[in-house]
Amino acid sequence: MTTYFDCNATTPVDPRVIEVIHEAMSTLIGNAGSPHAMGQRAKRAVNQAREQISNVVTARKHEVVFTSGATESNNLAILGLAEDAKRRGKLHLVSSQIEHKSVLEPLARLSRDGFQVTLVPPGPSGRVEAQDILNAIQPDTALVSLMHANNETGVIQPIEEVAEGLQDGEIYLHVDAAQGFGKEIEALQHRRIDLISISGHKVYAPQGIGALITRRRDSQLPPLQPLQEGGGQEFGFRSGTVSVPLALGLGKAAELALVESEQRQTRCLAIRQQLLAALAPLSPTIHGDASHTQAHVVNLSFAGIDSELAIEALDDVIAVSNGSACTTICDTTSHVLQAMQVDVNAREEALRLSWYHDSQLPDLDKVVTILQALRAA
Ligand code: PMP
Repeated sequence: MTTYFDCNATTPVDPRVIEVIHEAMSTLIGNAGSPHAMGQRAKRAVNQAREQISNVVTARKHEVVFTSGATESNNLAILGLAEDAKRRGKLHLVSSQIEHKSVLEPLARLSRDGFQVTLVPPGPSGRVEAQDILNAIQPDTALVSLMHANNETGVIQPIEEVAEGLQDGEIYLHVDAAQGFGKEIEALQHRRIDLISISGHKVYAPQGIGALITRRRDSQLPPLQPLQEGGGQEFGFRSGTVSVPLALGLGKAAELALVESEQRQTRCLAIRQQLLAALAPLSPTIHGDASHTQAHVVNLSFAGIDSELAIEALDDVIAVSNGSACTTICDTTSHVLQAMQVDVNAREEALRLSWYHDSQLPDLDKVVTILQALRAA
């Protein structure tokens, strides 16, 4: 049986989350926007989910805007701020070269629309220096968008330092926390972070649900324009009927993440150690500074072994990937590793292994034997 080691692409759904969703689908009939008692019951349940999510980042429950996932949240945060930025004559945006495409593409759209975008490179460690982000700021900067943890390398970015450095200014700070929410708890609690994108299917809830946390600063919400018009749900930021079962599922996943994060980290670290010890005879090159890497992911290259051939050869033993799922579809080598100045051969050899706290290790002897055979071929 194949062991699933691609949790950065999507995680399994926690059985306790499934239970909540099942219960909601079976018993919570009603649109959370309906005025009758059944609708109001659904609304109360959704508000409780908002609270579970907001607790993880110490926000207020009405600052949680449900979306379909982090792609939508990133688009809403970045494109949604553009109109206000234009009105204020602030046409400069700062981000990094290692962001997910769902940040880079909205930024590219705004740059076609007259904005100037500065993308700060990371060091070879995969980490963007906070000072480099702060140095990129200009008098007309409207937004800084920096990811929490990189999806390809697991390298945690210095969002707290950036938040500190921004002080009280008018610049909005957005963090794409798709990979870090519920895993690295403390940094996202920084009150200077205005907007946080999260995704259900990276934190043991289903695909198709996420949120944008819109933190009030000096009692003011970020001046977001919605991307879609309609019934004005989600405080006017995101029209469309919220999925009550999925919202409740994400709420439960958030609650569990907060309670269990330490023990999950410990288990993930133990898996990491066993994995790296077993692979050591193949002398992999690890991409990303280990001291800042999340416990559940490693990105590595085995010299002389093409990653696509490896994925195919390993398919009956372990499911791994060679970058983000989106990059795979685009069929190019990783823009993240390229920004880290990893040479093209190592980029073509790079594999991302990502697991979770309940992962069982695959037959590691078999993995090593398959990779050795590929290298000898
Ligand atoms: N940002 C990051 C860092 C991600 O890893 C992902 C998922 N690969 C996304 C955004 C997009 O999330 P979703 O699949 O929920 O749209």
